[in-house]
Amino acid sequence: MADALVLVDIQNDFCEGGAMGVDGGIGVAARAGAHALAHRGAYAHIVATADWHIDPGDHFSAQPDFVESWPVHCVADSPGAELRPELGPAVPLIEALFRKGEYEAAYSGFEGTAADGSGLADWLRERGAASLDVAGIATDYCVRATVLDALRAGFDVTVLTDLVAGVAPESARRALAEMEAAGATLAEAGERAQGEPVRDEPAQGEAAQKTAQQGAVEQGTAAQKTAQQGQADQPRGSADQPRRRAGE
Ligand SMILES: [Zn+2]
Repeated sequence: MADALVLVDIQNDFCEGGAMGVDGGIGVAARAGAHALAHRGAYAHIVATADWHIDPGDHFSAQPDFVESWPVHCVADSPGAELRPELGPAVPLIEALFRKGEYEAAYSGFEGTAADGSGLADWLRERGAASLDVAGIATDYCVRATVLDALRAGFDVTVLTDLVAGVAPESARRALAEMEAAGATLAEAGERAQGEPVRDEPAQGEAAQKTAQQGAVEQGTAAQKTAQQGQADQPRGSADQPRRRAGE
């Protein structure tokens, strides 16, 4: 899993029934919430972004073109700007909310600031988070912009493709291809969780100590030798019981 899970704009106005409801938005909220809850121990940090408009100029329009201008949405402190309730029990896990777009259009979560004024890139770097899993709405706008900014800023990014929803199928497909071409990994949340159940750490922690105490030193050293010799025929991680990361 990645160091951090970034939930992009999972707000009422971007879900069905909202001012700019995206088909599948509610489903994304529910599945992203469940994913965050199930894997809260695997992510060191869970953060969210939110569109948060006070007077964003021509981002709002009475005759929106749905490309650069939009109906009024996510007005600061309005119900439409609130996180979608289906995120539910995952909401308390969100360590910081990065609001963006007070006085201008802001598609990328990296344009947002947390309550303490810090931007997303600095906030993550200060905590040593180098890899990000990204979920949210909309694939072809704010998810796309957030992912491309994350890659430019040097983060390792995976888009959880079953935890995003797009405004239009064709532009969503194009956006995913563009993110992948820019260096993002595309993966479904389930395969992402199964593919990396355990962090690949040196066998020096608790588990290794216990093994040594029991006198069965072979397991740890054998694994190290195998790694040193480059004989990677044993699937790494799967043979050992899950190791706890320091601090958990
Ligand atoms: Zn907006």
